[in-house]
Amino acid sequence: MNASQNAGSSILEATARATADITAGSRIVHVEAQLCDLPVETERTDALQTFVKQETIFVRLRTADGAEGVGYSYTIGTGGGAVLSLLRETLLPALLGLEVERPEAVWLALFGVTRATTVGPITALALAAVDTAVWDAKTRRAGLPLWVAAGGASASVPMYDTEGGWLHFGTDELVAHAVDAQNRGMGGVKIKVGMPRGHQDLERLRAVREAVGAGMDLMVDANQSFTVSEAVRRARLFEQVDVFWFEEPLPAEDIEGHRQLARSTSVPIAVGESMYSLGHFREHLQRGGASIVQPDVARVGGITPWLKIAHLAEAFNAPVAPHFLMELHVSLVCAVPNALYLEHIPQLRAVTTGELRIADGRGWAPSTTGLGIAWDDAALGRLIVG
Ligand SMILES: [Mg+2]
Repeated sequence: MNASQNAGSSILEATARATADITAGSRIVHVEAQLCDLPVETERTDALQTFVKQETIFVRLRTADGAEGVGYSYTIGTGGGAVLSLLRETLLPALLGLEVERPEAVWLALFGVTRATTVGPITALALAAVDTAVWDAKTRRAGLPLWVAAGGASASVPMYDTEGGWLHFGTDELVAHAVDAQNRGMGGVKIKVGMPRGHQDLERLRAVREAVGAGMDLMVDANQSFTVSEAVRRARLFEQVDVFWFEEPLPAEDIEGHRQLARSTSVPIAVGESMYSLGHFREHLQRGGASIVQPDVARVGGITPWLKIAHLAEAFNAPVAPHFLMELHVSLVCAVPNALYLEHIPQLRAVTTGELRIADGRGWAPSTTGLGIAWDDAALGRLIVG
């Protein structure tokens, strides 16, 4: 080793020592995982599936200096046990000794021990449960709310309603729900599409459009149910009622199909809830398959990758409107400058002691430290299944 290599290595050692002094208290000394089955608040049916229950996987950790973090991810009915097994057998043991002040290092370490099952939904869901717990503890230690610690772009975000637009609702119900959402100040409503014939979808949309007028955004969501040619055909119909976005028109992996569709219609294409990695978002954006991205913090592996996806979209001048999990996503969309909308689907009321604050159709990020979700531990305790 020559003199300059010697100097270099001593600088590295000094840096490591200095960092360790700063972050040592954030070392993870205890971690555990649980699975709870949350009943759905209302029946939810789309073109492909019914939301049976929210399998919710919790990770709870504690640091050397006593900070606590609670993170979670979810499925809409199956696979939660597999996520829990991966956590208990592989990820949680690897977590001990890592530092919550360094979420990138934690993510990298856990990604490293799951290479054989990455990228994939089960691993991404497990990583998300850990990563959200890490961010919860990190921001509690800092004494900051998540939305501020992650960027702090805006304290609130416009909301649209999905809860009134499920596919099993009749047209009268859709109209009543949309008018109710409008009266509550919501900027838009999402209507599920995928009826056997295109004109059936159009008639339902036309009834809603006539009831709410031109000043409300009308989103549609096919939940990946169409072929490219059918999606092109339906998009042409949807243009008649000035649809704000066409969500998941095709299977998520059909990037070329999304590109063809996007070029054939004036309706913006929204994708993301069925995508599990940063690279998948990059492919869609780079190839012109998406105008709006909808990352789901649980499905992409947590807050660390979610923020990268939002910033990636910003570089493409594309807005972000995350999928579901409004109680957590409110803090993430408020953190970034390219927020478009927050989706209104309440799902945690039975297991929390406080609700997302909604005023004048806007969701307000919690001002409490950490993720800002007030879990009701007694209520959760009654729902533990694993
Ligand atoms: Mg959707």
